[in-house]
Parts: sequence; C-alpha cells; structure tokens
Amino acid sequence: MLKPNMNYADLKDSYLFYNIAQKTKAYSEKNPDRHLLRLGIGDVSLPLAPAVIDALNKAVLDQAEKTTFRGYMPECGDPSLRQVIAEYYSTRSVEISPDEVFVSSGASDELGDILAIFDKGNTTLITEPAYPAYVDANIMEGRRIIHLSSGIDNGFLPFPDENTEADLIYICSPNNPTGAVYDHAGLKKWVDYANARGSVILFDAAYEAFIEDPSLPRSIFEIDGARNCAIEICSLSKTAGFTGTRLGYTIIPAELERCGMNLNSMWIRNRTTKTNGISYILQKGGAAVFTVEGRRQVLENIKIYKNNARVIMNALDECGIWYCGGKNAPYIWMKCPDGMGSWEFFDLLLNEIQVVGTPGEGFGKCGEKFFRFSSFGDPEDTRNAAERLIRLLRK
Ligand code: PLP
Repeated sequence: MLKPNMNYADLKDSYLFYNIAQKTKAYSEKNPDRHLLRLGIGDVSLPLAPAVIDALNKAVLDQAEKTTFRGYMPECGDPSLRQVIAEYYSTRSVEISPDEVFVSSGASDELGDILAIFDKGNTTLITEPAYPAYVDANIMEGRRIIHLSSGIDNGFLPFPDENTEADLIYICSPNNPTGAVYDHAGLKKWVDYANARGSVILFDAAYEAFIEDPSLPRSIFEIDGARNCAIEICSLSKTAGFTGTRLGYTIIPAELERCGMNLNSMWIRNRTTKTNGISYILQKGGAAVFTVEGRRQVLENIKIYKNNARVIMNALDECGIWYCGGKNAPYIWMKCPDGMGSWEFFDLLLNEIQVVGTPGEGFGKCGEKFFRFSSFGDPEDTRNAAERLIRLLRK
C-alpha cells in the first residue's frame, strides 16, 4: 500500500501568522473606525525599481519577436546574470566564478531544496530564534535537528561548543527575526568549527544589503576557509522588492567537496534534472538590479526602510527598552516590558494603540519574551506607531 512521507505528521501547526491575522481581523470587525499600524509584516511595501520595470517590459517585448524570443533558459541560470552576480561579489572583494552562481526562484526554495544533496542521516543545527522554514524543511525530510538557542547574554549570536555534533548548519546573518549580525571573528568561529568537523554551513544572506557598517561581513565568503565549508543562499526579495516577482541565487564554491563528491557538480545535476531554469523575463529584470542605475534605485528603497527602523529604535530608546537589530538589518527585536509574554504584549499593542507586530514565540522557544518589529511598513504608519509606543511604554 502507498505510504505518504510520514515525516509530515511530525510538523507542528504554525499558528503564528494565522493567529495574527485572526486577532487583527476580529479587532478590525469590532472597531471598524480604527486604522491598524502594521509593523509585523516581513513583506516589502515599496514597488520594484524603475530600472527593473524597464528591463522586465523590454524582456516581455523580446518574447513577442521571432528574432529575440527565448525558450528554455539554462537550468543553472542565464550566463550573463551569473556573470553580473559574480561581479557584484567582486565589488565587495569576494572572488566568485560565474560557474559557482546558481540562479534560483528565491531563497526559501533553495534553503529546503538544497537538502537533496545531503544524506538524510545528517544532523542539522539551527540557530534560534530562526526563520521557521529551516525547521519545517528539515522535519519534512526526517532529519535530526539540534536547536541552538540564543539570548540577551550572547547578543542572539550563539556558537557551538566542543560537544556539538552538527553536520548541516543554518546561519542567517543579518538575522530574521533578531536583526543580529555576526562579525568576522564570529563567522570565523563557525567556519573553523565546520572545517574541523567536516560540516557544511548553509548561510542565509537574504538581508546582506541592509548592512551599513563596513566592518561587518555581508558574505560568508569574506571569511578565510569558507570556500571549503559553506554554501550561500541569497535573494532579491528584500534587497530589491522581488518578494512577488521571485528571484534569488545560490553560491556553491567549486572546491566544496565531501566524501569525494563535489557539491557544485551535484547541484548542477540536481538543477538540470529537477528544473528547466528561471524565466527569461525574470532574469532580465534581476540583471537590472545589478546595473549602476538599478543599484542606486534599490538602495533608495532600502534607505526608506532603514529610516523606518531608526524611527522605531528611537522610540524604544526613549522608553528605555532593550532591543537588538535595526541598524544593519530590517528587523528590530525587543524585550517585552515587565516580563510579559510575546502574545500578551501583542494583545496589549493591538488593543491599546492599534500597532501590530510579531510575537517572538513564533521563531522558537527562546523568543517567548521578545517581539519583532519590521521596518518594511509604510513610513507614515511607522512614525505614528512610534509615537504611540512612546505614549504607552515610556515610564
Ligand atoms: N530567508 C530569510 C531569513 C527570510 O526572512 C526570508 C523571507 O522572509 C527568506 C529567506 C525567503 O526569501 P525568498 O522570498 O527569496 O524566498
């Protein structure tokens, strides 16, 4: 008899965003005249840059002419896009060959799909609080998970100890949800651990473009030894507003090998078997992000989000509340006041000042007393929310 993948029975229901939606809907139905200020969303609110729109439009018209029409694209990405992504890394003094760049339809897809090239008996370490998809993708595969929790004492930047037995390691820096960023020395510790043990780091760089401190690493490949132990997974979702358009890229160094198997070659084989490439139109739109004008325009949008973050951080400073993130990340992670739980604090903000955030509990047990604000919202709503937070929380 057919047996489904019974690992799915081990998945916990994810109530986080469902509960937020239910609670805000119920509040709005009861109070239709009250405007909710949404600082919970992880989605972007600004449209695509004009350079991207022009490139997308032009690519659509290319598909209308026999001479410029393109059918299937190369499975690992359009060579010209792989080239400009490699050049983007070289502007940051990281040497990557275009053959090491795989164009994808986004980071979420890759963070789960990449597991296909690793043995199911491997143990996966997830630094927490964490983006929930890491845990679920590994549960679906039946992998053993080590939850490495963090807290205020280590600035939400945990490290393995000598007894940690991790084969695959998820690291997200700048982090969702905490906004914490590893420095060079911190990432070096992870790289040394991985090389000593033969582990592989899956480095989620979805928020690299938000790093403004030039001393902080934006790629794991800025760290000596990382080419022998790391895969970097990145996305244009948050850097360039592609959440709905969908485009990302994954970097697998040519020399990354385990047990005589080359991981870059394995991923080529995986992609050429399981995909038929990303659409020509989207890849043209993505390439526009890496032009001089495209970069200038996407940075303008990031500036608006960063200003939102500053507005929230100033409010929390004024209230004397502990938080991390915000400066080099789009998320601000605050400690709930007066020992409140994260759902209790959610209810307080919704009912008293009509501000919606994200309870920390949704990102792992160590997030229970914390709360996430996102800077991706509307600037005017963010300013109003900050004023209301000050009124409510200033002691
Ligand atoms: N990684 C992290 C840490 C994220 O927060 C997100 C989206 O919120 C993703 C990956 C997913 O990115 P994408 O839209 O490219 O799938």
